[in-house]
Amino acid sequence: MLERIKRQGLAVAIMSVVCAAVIPSVALARKPQPPVPAPAMSCLFNDSHFHLTNYVQKGTDMGKYVDEIMGDKVCRSTVFGIPLQQTWSYGNSGDFAPTYYLQSDAPLYYYSFTDAYIANAYLKLKPEQRQRLDPMITGFNPADMYAVDHIRRVLETYPGVFTGIGEFTIHKEFVSSKVAGEIASLTNPALDRILDFAGEVGLAVILHSDIDMPFAKAGAEPVFLKQMKDLLRRHPQTTIIWAHLGLGRVVHPVQGQATSDAAERNPAYRELVEAMITDPTLSHVYFDISWDEVAKYAVSSPESIENTAAMLNKYPERFLFGTDNVAPNDQATQLRVYDMWAPIWGKLTPEASLKVRRGNYERVFDAARVRVRAWERANVK
Ligand SMILES: [Zn+2]
Repeated sequence: MLERIKRQGLAVAIMSVVCAAVIPSVALARKPQPPVPAPAMSCLFNDSHFHLTNYVQKGTDMGKYVDEIMGDKVCRSTVFGIPLQQTWSYGNSGDFAPTYYLQSDAPLYYYSFTDAYIANAYLKLKPEQRQRLDPMITGFNPADMYAVDHIRRVLETYPGVFTGIGEFTIHKEFVSSKVAGEIASLTNPALDRILDFAGEVGLAVILHSDIDMPFAKAGAEPVFLKQMKDLLRRHPQTTIIWAHLGLGRVVHPVQGQATSDAAERNPAYRELVEAMITDPTLSHVYFDISWDEVAKYAVSSPESIENTAAMLNKYPERFLFGTDNVAPNDQATQLRVYDMWAPIWGKLTPEASLKVRRGNYERVFDAARVRVRAWERANVK
């Protein structure tokens, strides 16, 4: 326990130094800033996956998010909107205004203004509020060869703000087929351009892409696994977090089969993940364990709890906790996903627990902050 407190103290101290170095240059230019107080020692986790706004671009006030919802329980947090806007089609739902993609048959479209909205809200915060957030760029179409120009333009317009890109989506059950225009693909060169640029700038990437199609046949290899690995291997210089372990509401962890022949073709999900973690060509890839749907799988049975805890204890550097909450109203809502993981938190070593809840976030996002600020100094006039 003492060791853990010492480690936490060290982590907070390091974070304070790093954060002091990355306060936006606009603020620094005005006057020297007083030392920024570190978040309370009692905080539980850093949120590596958080949406401030929903599918119709409405959400939580950013200052309220930091002061009341994160409060003293969430140490630091990513912050991004949702790049896809649900159309309110009168012809489809009449007077009913849909706020979620499952509530309408009308298409979703890319709403690039989300990045300006997030940046403007961030710039209105006090320095000590800003230092706890890592804003992310999301408002681009990953099937567009020009997407990379949008990302560059956002960095040029709002230097000192963003730490990474994402969560953006390639394959997502129920969502991909609703997006207006060309469907995104893991093999589209537009996506390679995005990941190349992220690697060049140092932007951390949060990528959502289901590992499989919904209702896939049991016994078959997940449809998108090979494409995903090939994509990741093409970008070894880019830090990529694969959101939700590639799972979804109905894209569930595949089950191992009793016969050895079937097991070879369809290994248990943890074996797929373990094979990626131990693959030296994928050492730049992390997994977030965000979304209550993923938490449900993880705690669905005593066996699943054991397996998940064993995986986190064995490879604690490669997993980041996140909520995947969308525009929560209060702290209780924000902590719900964290609490769902309680049976697993209780089985982790103190070291593994600290890394998954906090340490990996600090390592990945602090490194990204430093690199993105350096790129901006060299490239933004
Ligand atoms: Zn998400």
